[in-house]
Amino acid sequence: MRVDKEPTNLTKPNSSLDTIALHPFGGHLEPGDPLTADLTLSTSFKMAPDAGFTAASQGDDPLPIYARWGNPTVHRLERHLCALERAEDAVCFGSGMAAVSALFFSTLSSGDHLVASNICYAGVAELMHDLQAHRGIKVSFVDTSDIGAVADAMTPRTKMVFVETPANPILRLTDIRAVAERAASVGARLAVDSTFATPIATRPLDLGADFVVHSLTKYACGHGDALGGAVLGSRENLEPLRSSALVHNGAVLHPLAAWLIGRSLQTLPLRMRQHQDNAFAVARFLEQHPAVEQVFYPGLSSHPQHELAKSQMANFSGMIAFRARNSKSLRDRFAAEAEILSYAVSLGKTKSLIVLVDTDEVQSQSFQMPPAELEKYRAAAGDGIFRLSVGLEDSADIIADLDRILGS
Ligand SMILES: *Cc1c(COP(=O)(O)O)cnc(C)c1O
Repeated sequence: MRVDKEPTNLTKPNSSLDTIALHPFGGHLEPGDPLTADLTLSTSFKMAPDAGFTAASQGDDPLPIYARWGNPTVHRLERHLCALERAEDAVCFGSGMAAVSALFFSTLSSGDHLVASNICYAGVAELMHDLQAHRGIKVSFVDTSDIGAVADAMTPRTKMVFVETPANPILRLTDIRAVAERAASVGARLAVDSTFATPIATRPLDLGADFVVHSLTKYACGHGDALGGAVLGSRENLEPLRSSALVHNGAVLHPLAAWLIGRSLQTLPLRMRQHQDNAFAVARFLEQHPAVEQVFYPGLSSHPQHELAKSQMANFSGMIAFRARNSKSLRDRFAAEAEILSYAVSLGKTKSLIVLVDTDEVQSQSFQMPPAELEKYRAAAGDGIFRLSVGLEDSADIIADLDRILGS
């Protein structure tokens, strides 16, 4: 669908993401053009008399007809995301889960094999167990930080490899380039959930992935006021997602949410720098705190995959995981007494959030790992691990809040 200006030469590899985030569409404005994107809420658009109205008749660059097929504000966000991720195409959805569902349901059918990360965002883990139980898709859940395990799981029926890096909740990384090579060797496509990394840290398509998935609800929106999701990749790969998940299943993003997320993308590089700086300060504080047993932050040299983090992430993001003694009583104190930190799910917001991810709960409801894999997970997460989304407050204030609760 046409927008006022399409991405242009600003997306050349050496132009700065700071600039692309603010000027994703090249070309100069004419007198009277708005400097801030318009919001188009219209659900219907005047049609040419010969315009078709099925998914198949939409062609490559259609005029807007009906908002389930495309809306100029949503389309503008898609082009904005393409510029940041250096993708040919993007499709936006009403949430991150809608984006992941669209990916699986549009690319996998009964009898296909999926190789997937055995730990990831809980909702995605549950969806993949559902694909296996009810939709005839065989799923091999593996530790995708172990390239040998990924390679061993591949079969001639493997259609897709799905990884999340850094992965919820223990911030385990996957070597995207290495997994992309293994996937390509059996003709499978690689999808990367890059929500924690954002395009500021990692651009999976440049490393050989076929699809990138984002929950736009997190860092992309960043302000905690809109749900959204996106899948990016080649136009050819995304065509089935647009026609089936959007046009037929109706998993559309509301234009107001698209507008809010597009507004927020302008400051994504700036926010990610501050999230990272604050996370470094908080992670170093936690590492020396006597009540804390272990800290996981990809930017610290103590992270088991710090070398991979350095080569694959241009920004270490703002997510920290840490294990502490008496985690349940600490959890209650965070919920009751924290002033800067909010005890809440979700992440990537301007404000700091903390939540305890209980191992038994996440294992029984989401991950369902076999005993050996669970033992490996427990070695990192213990009986429960705090997931801390470090916000944009002064890091000294975040640290003071943590210290007051951890300290006594
Ligand atoms: C939040 C999240 C999702 C799901 O996104 P929603 O917008 O909440 O539906 C998927 N993957 C990851 C890594 C997430 O953090």
